[in-house]
Amino acid sequence: MGLSEFALIDHFFRPLGANRDDVVIGVGDDAAVLSCAADRQLVAAVDTLVAGVHFPLDTAPGDIGYKCLAVNLSDLAAMGAEPAWATLALTLPEADEAWLAAFAQGWADLARRYNVALVGGDTTRGPLTVSVQVMGFVPSGCAVTRGGARPGDDIYATGTLGDGYGGLRCILDGNRDDEHSRYLRQRLNRPTPRIELGLALRGIATAMIDVSDGLAADLGHIVEQSGCGARIELDQLPLSTALVRLAADFAQRPELSRLEQATAAQRCAIIGGDDYELCFTAPPGHAAAIEALSHRIDCPVTRIGRVVEGVGLSGRTAGGDSVPLAASGYRHF
Ligand code: ADP
Ligand code: MG
Repeated sequence: MGLSEFALIDHFFRPLGANRDDVVIGVGDDAAVLSCAADRQLVAAVDTLVAGVHFPLDTAPGDIGYKCLAVNLSDLAAMGAEPAWATLALTLPEADEAWLAAFAQGWADLARRYNVALVGGDTTRGPLTVSVQVMGFVPSGCAVTRGGARPGDDIYATGTLGDGYGGLRCILDGNRDDEHSRYLRQRLNRPTPRIELGLALRGIATAMIDVSDGLAADLGHIVEQSGCGARIELDQLPLSTALVRLAADFAQRPELSRLEQATAAQRCAIIGGDDYELCFTAPPGHAAAIEALSHRIDCPVTRIGRVVEGVGLSGRTAGGDSVPLAASGYRHF
């Protein structure tokens, strides 16, 4: 059965995700009409995933459907925003129904969990590219930006860092299939957007970002926009067992090799990208509240360093040696 463009949209995308009362007009008209409460601000983000650039060409369609929404929800989480709506611009080489069904399932898994309605999009033919826009809310004036960190603040990270990079290496270096490689690949393909924690950190975090390009690059944005510096305690970086076990195998990669004083897994955590964990800063007086939130929400949070006077990032080894960390992450141009 070959579906036309409109039948395909009707079949796969009209019912996709959550039903929300604030969607006045969703998929099917020229544009969506959405209701927005007066005391809230709209928070919008868009991210494009290109096959062969953002994910390996043989990535499962369910993982692509999941991840294209997850990376956008992660941006909302980093603003402290509550997700509501999404639009999806899908460029496909062909209308393969099995592919579309799996893609839609991957999307739906996440969209229902976070109450995100798909309200519109665009479907075109071409090299596989997925562009997703998400919209959400904050109470007016309550968004958490990258610019509010102050010297003396603690720096925290959620989850574990470096797994996305490790997962990618496991795929590119010959599709390894042991238990640790499977774990890292799952972390790459199905990252957990830290929505609940992001919401709970409004009024607590002074600055926040999601780690998409690597900790050094993303924390680099916080210190630059906040006008301060940061010192990371290398031995405090949260690392998964799987990454610690496998990282020695890719520590010689050129992008990792210059951080000689750090262990292989620490290098992945600092330089690697695609983790979609949150990195945030908060005054030391909030430490107990943050620990309580971490338990309540069941989201691991680790203190990894401190905001300092000055500029740029440095690391400190367990032995007390200082290591310069230039903010270098993945750049397209
Ligand atoms: P137009 O030509 O007016 O842009 P389209 O034919 O592109 O309309 O789309 C028809 C309807 O289907 C619109 O409401 C659009 O938002 C929706 N739509 C198209 N593609 C998608 C998609 N991939 N996901 C969700 N909605 C889509
Ligand atoms: Mg269109």
